[in-house]
Amino acid sequence: MSWETVIGLEVHVQLSTKTKLFSGASTGFGAEPNTQVDLVDLGLPGALPVVNKEAFYKAIRFGLATKAEINQVSMFDRKNYFYPDLPKGYQITQMEKPIVGMGSITIDVDGKEKLINITRAHLEEDAGKSIHDLFDGETGVDLNRAGTPLLEIVSEPEISNAKEAVAYFKAIHQLVTFLDICDGNMAQGSMRCDVNVSIKKAEDKELGTRAEIKNINSFKFIEKAINFEIARQIKLLEKGESVVQETRLYDSIKNETRSMRSKEAANDYRYFPEPDLLPVVILDKELEEIIEGLPELPKEKEKRFIDEHNLEVSEARILSSSKAMAELFEKASEKTKDSNLVAKWLVGDISALLNKDNISIEESKLSLENFVKLIERITDNTISGKIAKSLLEDVWETGNDVDNLIQEKGLVQIQDESVLEEIATKVIQSNEDQVAAYKSGKDRIFGFFVGQVMKETQGKANPKSVNDILKKLLG
Ligand code: ADP
Ligand code: MG
Repeated sequence: MSWETVIGLEVHVQLSTKTKLFSGASTGFGAEPNTQVDLVDLGLPGALPVVNKEAFYKAIRFGLATKAEINQVSMFDRKNYFYPDLPKGYQITQMEKPIVGMGSITIDVDGKEKLINITRAHLEEDAGKSIHDLFDGETGVDLNRAGTPLLEIVSEPEISNAKEAVAYFKAIHQLVTFLDICDGNMAQGSMRCDVNVSIKKAEDKELGTRAEIKNINSFKFIEKAINFEIARQIKLLEKGESVVQETRLYDSIKNETRSMRSKEAANDYRYFPEPDLLPVVILDKELEEIIEGLPELPKEKEKRFIDEHNLEVSEARILSSSKAMAELFEKASEKTKDSNLVAKWLVGDISALLNKDNISIEESKLSLENFVKLIERITDNTISGKIAKSLLEDVWETGNDVDNLIQEKGLVQIQDESVLEEIATKVIQSNEDQVAAYKSGKDRIFGFFVGQVMKETQGKANPKSVNDILKKLLG
């Protein structure tokens, strides 16, 4: 029997506005509990919400970038439920008429592109936080987050496996940070997602019953939670049992999903139009201004990098993978006037270090100034490429100044040809067998001599000079 997986994602993106969606309170992260709340966020009777225009403009930027329909008249609805961190007893969201309608985004999995349709993207307010581990036997409520603007982006059920789901989430992350509508900080919860997973027989037209895994905020956990869930559902189906429609929770320590509650239907929430807010109308003029202000998007950047710097597609893709990476590439290229060398280091050694540490370039200790110095010391022949590699690792760990490190560690390349010639002569004299072999026609042995000289100089020789000198000496 062959099973097919169907996945749909609901991604919550925290919009980077200064103030909340319906109040003037700050959205800043990490303040003392309950210091960033006003009457609206507390849900005090009579306090009326006022719409934050900036949140709409940011949502529209997302819509435009995903070629979506923009609803110039959109509306808010009340979603009613009872929870301690929701003082009003309802969440204001957009149900009937969201600001952003059907759009799409292209994902890239193992070099293959796939288009994923996005059903809608709507604005809603976040809830507060319940804190269970601070007071013994009691729960604390922090309302600083209550009312923070979220854009909920709902995909069609068109994602076929965990890898595609991660690629989709990454594509959204890349887009919202390029658009400057979200800071993309996953650890602070600026982006999180609910994952809907179901299984069906390959030949079935209808979708299977789904389970929804709530609130995952890391690329790694999305992949693990989905793979666990796929295995769990297939096992049930193969036993002849059925999947229950429910909300589940992912436990990253045990690497399993657990049932949280049975899935509520839309009518459990008693949705109705929000009576405290008028429909929001976006004028043509406003829409035009937002279109004018759209920045260059990842795909456009990728294409420009290929055209302007003569790069391979794979290189341009890495260099335009995040806003910070693209900026580092462009600024360092401008300063060093050597975009090829800059690209080579970013795509090669630096990407490898990023992968190893599993961090993004803005989280690393490598500054633009220090990176530029590293490139310049290579091009002005102060250090060899080989030394530059180990120097980069040092800079990566410590963030120390490149020039200071070169001085401190005595890494300056040996420029004096007579010194190199002396070392090369010694190497030749102490390896008679190899010399004989080389002279009898084993050309490949030449590399051995280069290696020996590099070793003697602890990598500080210029490989080209070493090559020239050895050729001359070996005849
Ligand atoms: P809600 O979860 O709020 O009830 P929806 O019914 O709109 O909202 O569905 C939310 C998400 O679930 C969407 O991303 C959709 O693609 C996905 N989804 C719906 N049905 C299935 C299914 N059978 N299998 C997998 N994903 C599904
Ligand atoms: Mg849902």
